[in-house]
Amino acid sequence: MVSGIVALMLQQNPNLTPDDVKCRLMATARGARNEDGSPGYGILQQGAGLVDAYAAVYATVVGCANRGLDIARDLAGEEHYAGLVRRDADGKVNGLVVHDRESGTSHRVTSRLVVNAGGVWTDEVRHRLGLGGCKVRPSRGIHLILPSTLVPIAVAVSLPSPDDGRPVFLIPHPEGVLLGTTDHFHDADLDDPRPTDEEVGYLLRAAQTAFPGRNVTRDKVLGAFAGLRPILDIHADDPTEASREEDIWVERGVVTVSGGKLTTWRSTAEQAVDEVVSQLPDEVARRVGRCMTKGTPLAGLAPRDLAARLEALPRARFLPALPPIKRVP
Ligand SMILES: Cc1cc2nc3c(=O)[nH]c(=O)nc-3n(C[C@H](O)[C@H](O)[C@H](O)COP(=O)(O)OP(=O)(O)OC[C@H]3O[C@@H](n4cnc5c(N)ncnc54)[C@H](O)[C@@H]3O)c2cc1C
Repeated sequence: MVSGIVALMLQQNPNLTPDDVKCRLMATARGARNEDGSPGYGILQQGAGLVDAYAAVYATVVGCANRGLDIARDLAGEEHYAGLVRRDADGKVNGLVVHDRESGTSHRVTSRLVVNAGGVWTDEVRHRLGLGGCKVRPSRGIHLILPSTLVPIAVAVSLPSPDDGRPVFLIPHPEGVLLGTTDHFHDADLDDPRPTDEEVGYLLRAAQTAFPGRNVTRDKVLGAFAGLRPILDIHADDPTEASREEDIWVERGVVTVSGGKLTTWRSTAEQAVDEVVSQLPDEVARRVGRCMTKGTPLAGLAPRDLAARLEALPRARFLPALPPIKRVP
């Protein structure tokens, strides 16, 4: 049975290493329990049988092989691997095994609900919890750092890409000028996204068009890095068409929140907290109440006279005709 699942896993992703396969099988497997709840078979023992083919094939988890397993205790029949997830009799998740990567210790945690706010790892976490399908499709954005002597700007500027008209930003940065960004679906490894040649060329063409006399070439680039956005998977053909909204899903004891933007984190968090409270038993929900942060001033809130202070600053040297700053009532 397990070899059949491994064949399916390798069909889905032929690049999996033996450790990846073991890790994905174990991350999605559950140890058997006897009727009285005592450990039955451990997953290291022949005949454990509680592997989850679907979750294993679609799992994206890496680097967890053997983590948290006491093999000697398992073989002695004292304690068997109970899986990363605890479930109640109805199959709802009601706890997790969490691993402290600093101390190397694992802990079992029981809970009424599990909240998954895993960003681009949203589905990786969902798969670990035995949930199928995908909610997000990450989009990769890259940035370049150029020498500030090459593109001398004193304020951030936005310009249209000559390739497709998307806005590209140039922003003064402590290490030079930040040039970004791109927007491409990223279906590869989530932990180490890298800029591609094509993406670097796209950004350089934008800078070359805006600064034609400046010779902005690849050899001048001081640095390049990539990041991933958690974009809702609405089966768009192009990430620029995909929704930048957030969404919340409640699945078998797991509340998953994903999508959105940095700029919307507070209202997204509020919606997630209110959803969690609505899932709790009435007496607990009454005690907890709804999310209270709306209207609470944020640390670092901009001073009310910010517009006046900005206006008093010396005008940018390279953009002499800045429009006056609009006051927000
Ligand atoms: C190039 C680029 C440009 C962007 N520009 C903008 C912009 O201009 N404006 C804007 O508003 N937004 C922008 N964003 C989007 C913004 O950065 C993201 O929407 C936001 O960071 C997502 O926040 P999040 O909390 O959902 O995910 P994250 O910040 O990624 O948080 C997820 C967390 O889950 C943790 N995690 C994952 N798996 C596990 C696990 N198994 N166990 C424990 N922890 C786990 C991770 O370590 C991480 O800390 C941009 C993103 C990119 C990449």
